[in-house]
Amino acid sequence: MAGEPQDDCLFCKIVAGQVPATVVRETDTTVAFRDINPQAPTHVLVIPKAHYKDAAALAAAAPELAADVLRETQAVADEDKLDSYRIVFNTGSGAGQTVWHAHAHVLGGRGLEWPPG
Ligand code: AMP
Ligand code: ZN
Repeated sequence: MAGEPQDDCLFCKIVAGQVPATVVRETDTTVAFRDINPQAPTHVLVIPKAHYKDAAALAAAAPELAADVLRETQAVADEDKLDSYRIVFNTGSGAGQTVWHAHAHVLGGRGLEWPPG
């Protein structure tokens, strides 16, 4: 069923506490933790606790939860005192998505070029 935990999903395991992560924020519906391979001084992933394969599936099936994720990206930026930051949802393997549980990358703390590579 949409949103149910998946046994083979790394981020569902982080939500369940079965895989350790450096959690920076948690709400009833979301978790935010530091990326294991940071690309900027702040590189935090914000995920819904429920499993959706990507941001589009999340937004289509659970728009209020998608809004929770987006709201948390601002909270992460506030905690790290970022005036400017970038939110990225890699969607599809051609765009670099490697974990098939929707997640927002929050990147900041250094100059960010536009357009990205
Ligand atoms: P994406 O490539 O957009 O699917 O993003 C997946 C992100 O998850 C990458 O930036 C990885 O560095 C990160 N990642 C993978 N495993 C872990 C982990 N155990 N804890 C934290 N971040 C992770
Ligand atoms: Zn999952």
